[in-house]
Amino acid sequence: MNTKHRPPEWAFEFHGHLCPFMPLGYRMGMRALSDLGAAREKDHTLHVICELGEGHPQTCLMDGIQVATGATFGKTLIEKTYWGKLAATFWYPGKTAVRYALKAEFLDEFGKREFFAYRKRGVEPSGIPSHVTQEAIDWTLSLTDENIYAVQRRADFQYQPPKGSFNKALCSKCGEYVFERYLRQQDGKPVCIPCAGGLHQNIRS
Ligand SMILES: [Zn+2]
Ligand SMILES: [Zn+2]
Repeated sequence: MNTKHRPPEWAFEFHGHLCPFMPLGYRMGMRALSDLGAAREKDHTLHVICELGEGHPQTCLMDGIQVATGATFGKTLIEKTYWGKLAATFWYPGKTAVRYALKAEFLDEFGKREFFAYRKRGVEPSGIPSHVTQEAIDWTLSLTDENIYAVQRRADFQYQPPKGSFNKALCSKCGEYVFERYLRQQDGKPVCIPCAGGLHQNIRS
C-alpha cells in the first residue's frame, strides 16, 4: 500500500468526515503539482477548473484538491463547470494544463466496496463504521495512479483568470462597499447587484 497518497490528518479534520473521495482528490492534486512542476500554491497563480456539479455524491474530491494544491475557494482558485463529471483541469501560466478524470473502470470496481452499500441506503459518511470506510480508502491506496486517473495534457486549454482590482465604491442605495467589477449603474449612480434588482451573481461580467 502506498501511504504517500494518504492525506494529512488535518485534511480529514477540515473535511469533517472520513471518506474515500477527499483522499482521491488529494492524490489528484498532488499528482497535478508534480506533473505541472508547480509548488503548493501560496498566493494566486494556480487555478483548478473542476467538472463537478451539485446534488450528486463524490464532490468531496474538491476538498482534497484544495488541501493538496492550496488552490482554495477562499483564494478564488477553484471553480466548477457544473457538468457533473469527476474530473478537473489544473492550469498554471506558462505550463501545459493537465486534466485528470476518474476512470469508468475504476469507478465500477470501486462501487463494489461495502462503503457504497451504506451510501446507497442513504447513510452519511460519518455514520458508516470507520473500518468500512477505511477499507475503501485502503483499496484505492493499493492501486497505481494509472489504475485510477485518465491523464490528458491540454496544450489547447484556454483560461484567463479575472483581472484583480482593489477599487471599490459605495452603493448609492444600501451604503455598502462593492468591488468595482460588481458595481452597476442605475440613474447614473453606482449600485450593488441586489439593489439593482439582480438576484443572480454574474461572476464574469
Ligand atoms: Zn467526504
Ligand atoms: Zn446596495
